[in-house]
Amino acid sequence: MTRPVFRHVPFTIEQDRTAEPEYEARCVSGDGTECGAASGTHGGPGPVEEGRRGHTQESGHRRCRRAVGDHAVPRPAAGLSGPGRPADGEAS
Ligand SMILES: [Zn+2]
Repeated sequence: MTRPVFRHVPFTIEQDRTAEPEYEARCVSGDGTECGAASGTHGGPGPVEEGRRGHTQESGHRRCRRAVGDHAVPRPAAGLSGPGRPADGEAS
């Protein structure tokens, strides 16, 4: 009887510096139902904050949910090969 053998391949998670972070906000003010006014996605916090200021002035709403997202890339730990990364000396 053979037993399956699983190999643990260590990965590190790195930020993908080729992709811009994404900033956005959504208004969560409201009585019973959230307003839901969304800022849209921007490459920096400035446009999101400016949009929130304008929305607060117009509506009086003061609570929002902010989110910042980035892109992550798992890579095999140094010295190891794995999916998406040929071993040293191996043609790609
Ligand atoms: Zn609102």
